[in-house]
Amino acid sequence: MLVQEPRLIRNAGGYSVINHAIPEYVPIVPHLWWEPRVDAQKSPFLFVDYLCLRYAKGMDFKVKEYKTQIAIVGGGASGLSAAAAAAEHGTGVVLLEANESVGGNGLFPRGIFAVDSYIQRSKLIFADTDDMFKSCMEYSHWKPNARVIRALIDLSGDTIGWLEQKGVSFSDVVHHLPNQTPEVYHITEAPVNTGKAVIKALEAFCRQRGVTVLTGISGKELSTSSGGAVTGIICEDKSGDCISVKADKVILCTGGFAGNPELVARFYPDYDSGAVDTGPGMRHKGAGLQMAIQAGAAIDGNFAMEISAPRIKGFEPLNLVLGKPYNIWFNKFGVRFADEGIVYNFAQAANACLRQPDGFLWVMFDQGNIDKALCDGRDIIELVHIGQGAEQKLPQTIVEAQENGILKVSDTLPELAQKAGFRQETLEHSVSEYNDFCKFNRDALFAKNRRYLKALDKPPFYLVKAGADMLTTHGGIRVNERFEALNAGFEPVPNLYVAGVDFGGADADVYNVVMSGHSFGFAVNSGRIAGKSAAEALS
Ligand SMILES: Cc1cc2nc3c(=O)[nH]c(=O)nc-3n(C[C@H](O)[C@H](O)[C@H](O)COP(=O)(O)OP(=O)(O)OC[C@H]3O[C@@H](n4cnc5c(N)ncnc54)[C@H](O)[C@@H]3O)c2cc1C
Repeated sequence: MLVQEPRLIRNAGGYSVINHAIPEYVPIVPHLWWEPRVDAQKSPFLFVDYLCLRYAKGMDFKVKEYKTQIAIVGGGASGLSAAAAAAEHGTGVVLLEANESVGGNGLFPRGIFAVDSYIQRSKLIFADTDDMFKSCMEYSHWKPNARVIRALIDLSGDTIGWLEQKGVSFSDVVHHLPNQTPEVYHITEAPVNTGKAVIKALEAFCRQRGVTVLTGISGKELSTSSGGAVTGIICEDKSGDCISVKADKVILCTGGFAGNPELVARFYPDYDSGAVDTGPGMRHKGAGLQMAIQAGAAIDGNFAMEISAPRIKGFEPLNLVLGKPYNIWFNKFGVRFADEGIVYNFAQAANACLRQPDGFLWVMFDQGNIDKALCDGRDIIELVHIGQGAEQKLPQTIVEAQENGILKVSDTLPELAQKAGFRQETLEHSVSEYNDFCKFNRDALFAKNRRYLKALDKPPFYLVKAGADMLTTHGGIRVNERFEALNAGFEPVPNLYVAGVDFGGADADVYNVVMSGHSFGFAVNSGRIAGKSAAEALS
């Protein structure tokens, strides 16, 4: 609820003017009111520094104030889910979104994870929550937060029905890995992908239930009482004016920190950002993490990157061939380095790619592989992930990729080696060794599945330079199963909740692809739980 129309704060009356405008700042950084720092760009950067700096420079700014029961920062997958869940309880909600429209990376997913959904039950897919819980914990060597994982898995099946009630129309639950049992990746009918369908339905539901959705507004700092309880959030709009939202509870859902090099370096010390390309996703700045830490929340130790390979930028129809296990992968020297069958587990493939010199790979295929890909038709993963009409566009795309330089083509291996910068003998040895493995039906190096062993002997031969792509970071603030933020002593930071990829403890160091779609699934379910917990705590 807007409690006060915008007020223009004129720079005429000393710091007491700012004090009066946003008094909740005073307990956080009292010294700043008497001694504004001029080096406000230095880390840690507090929004109040910025206001003081502006003020010191004689600039005016406006303050708008809202008062609500629950303020949610970030209007993506988890934020909208939290808002919908809280609104269902009749709770007043203000949702703040930095972009001009809601959705965040929630607009991109093709599928969402769930266990024991009504769709699985109707298809006689017996997806058991206990089995999935054990599988998840074992995959990650019991590094995740077991209570949090349990809560997310247990709610996931119900969430499919919850989303359906809000207008999402699921069409199927499918494999996302070969022989995956049980299938957990729930999809909507193409061409509208699952993410867009979910975001659209949640936004409509929130608006219909009276959630105040404010876009173009970035949360900057949590305000706290002298006892350390969170009392609201200070935000900034695009013109630099201040929006103060006083709230009984605040839920942070700002979508991770893939766009913040300092945080990436801090939490992924071995990560070479130069080796990783940017895909279509949004790279958020880690505002939620930083705000929560400033308010006293602790970090959960585990950080995983949702990262994928082999990826190319543009030239999407080429993915009809790149995603196949029949290709050969080489590093920059023309040396084979992995079982190419791991292509289906995109996190493993990215790990293998990133440990190569300069972190990229060449994917080699021949005309036989192209013919096979077109003749076999799409597998379920390609059906879900590759746009319509790719088959027809493939010949032209090959020409364009060649012109662009990411694709090398030749009828002979020596010429291909020369085009890619390999030593001729190295490429010839690598291909001949691989073709021998195919002949004897055994990959004596990397134990590739026999069904994927197909000799590359039908020219022309192709090499595509591909890399890894980071979709989002996973990990951050320590939470309990109600998604309350916890401090170093494992006590809740009063009134503060964290959801989506901002919370920590969902994965170990490798994103768990076996729980297909859990990034989006955990975002929606953690948001749903956080919204409900915060609303219940009020009543
Ligand atoms: C290309 C791509 C494909 C993907 N495919 C899948 C898939 O198939 N299945 C799957 O499970 N997952 C997938 N994911 C991951 C999934 O999209 C994310 O896990 C999910 O969106 C995370 O939800 P979130 O709420 O934490 O973040 P987001 O959905 O990104 O929402 C965060 C929101 O917070 C806003 N924000 C940030 N900072 C502030 C601030 N200071 N103030 C106010 N607002 C702020 C952002 O603008 C954004 O709208 C994919 C991701 C990408 C990029």
